Amino acid sequence: MDAAPGRAADWLPVDADGRRASVMAPAEQSLLNKLIRHNLVNNQNQVEVLQRDPSSPLFSVKTFEELRLKPQLLQGVYNMGFNRPSRIQENALPMMLAEPYQNLIAQSQSGTGKTAAFSLAMLSHVEPSNKWPQCLCITPTYELALQIGFVITQMGKFYPEVQLAYAVRGSRVPRGTLVEQQIVIGTPGTVLDWALKLKVFDPKKIRLFVLDEADIMIGIQGHQDQSIRIQRLLPKDCQMLLLSATFEESVWRFAKRVIPDPIIIKLKREEETLETIKQFYVVCKEKEDKFTALCNIYGILTIAQAMIFCQTRSMALWLCNRLFKEGHQVALLSGELMVEQRAAVIERFRDGKEKVLVTTNVCSRGIDVEQVSIVVNFDLPVDRDGNADNETYLHRIGRTGRFGKRGFAFNLVDSQDSMDIINQIELHFGRKILKLDTDDLDELE
Ligand code: ADP
Repeated sequence: MDAAPGRAADWLPVDADGRRASVMAPAEQSLLNKLIRHNLVNNQNQVEVLQRDPSSPLFSVKTFEELRLKPQLLQGVYNMGFNRPSRIQENALPMMLAEPYQNLIAQSQSGTGKTAAFSLAMLSHVEPSNKWPQCLCITPTYELALQIGFVITQMGKFYPEVQLAYAVRGSRVPRGTLVEQQIVIGTPGTVLDWALKLKVFDPKKIRLFVLDEADIMIGIQGHQDQSIRIQRLLPKDCQMLLLSATFEESVWRFAKRVIPDPIIIKLKREEETLETIKQFYVVCKEKEDKFTALCNIYGILTIAQAMIFCQTRSMALWLCNRLFKEGHQVALLSGELMVEQRAAVIERFRDGKEKVLVTTNVCSRGIDVEQVSIVVNFDLPVDRDGNADNETYLHRIGRTGRFGKRGFAFNLVDSQDSMDIINQIELHFGRKILKLDTDDLDELE
């Protein structure tokens, strides 16, 4: 099922308080990442390449010129502000673009340049004088398809002969007509309809097949089987690429079913660390007392930019209202917002229009706002059993090692249970969390 625009995750289960469950659908998370990301993520790790014949030479490029792209495409790439290939593109682009074409499975976190790479491959492989679909890309949702289309349109700005069609719900092609655009991007169900029911394009004429966001694809009912059915319609010599941000065993099994004889390339994510972060805890009595503590350190928060985490949506809303009443200008990133609205809140915050962002875990997972140097855990991260959620703690306040700027984390503790959690976190990471008296902030000097 494709996510309907304007109905952000309203199919999610509702929790005991009648709130939407605190999970953000992976497809929405990915869309949000795409909407807010304007640059590559920093990643200096080496790309790992696994190939059938380990002795065959590995090609990698350091410049786009080496790829011998059509001049219109090189111009498009530079016009997007790309100076050189990203880490993963250095290896992936030669395999995608140079003959003999390779089948490829590529895994790297979002923001490392996968979409840009396969978009360039699709544009390169098209023979513009042939007025039928030659490159096919499938992706889990309508919105993600539009995002890919946006990248292709930008990159192909100086190559107007190449046209794009969207095989997504709502785009109608009358039976009996044929699609003339050379590139088709769509969701699996509609692509199958176009190929088999409406017969508006011939899958046997596809030269390049891209399966994007494989990890999300397999999480959506029916998409896995539909993807396999599509792949079976394609000619044997069609080049096939599969991209994924993560690689659990299930993704791996699926990838190997759809991509014959692949070369596999992987880029490890940068590790997050607490090394450059000074961590404190503040002992409070209850919610109001936590609010007072927060007000006491508020001046420090606004020197730079800060994110404040609450456990529930209702707590985030309460806190935001209280801060408003105190005359503070804060932004609220809430689960009720649609993906586009969330992206707008993050953009405003990133542009410094608000200095403080109040949020819940769910909304902020995977968002890295680099200039945030202060994090407040208004509520400590706990798992379902009430134990410390170390991974979430690290996500909230950690920085990737090499680029780590100094930062501060303030944890508000309001019970013996939460004190226990602080102790667990200290023990887990082997790093001290210092006690801070917010009436006397000398310790921060
Ligand atoms: P992914 O598909 O892995 O999430 P994208 O291809 O969407 O990554 O790239 C992430 C961001 O980096 C986008 O804003 C994109 O325009 C930009 N980008 C991609 N490749 C390059 C490059 N070689 N140089 C500079 N920016 C790039």
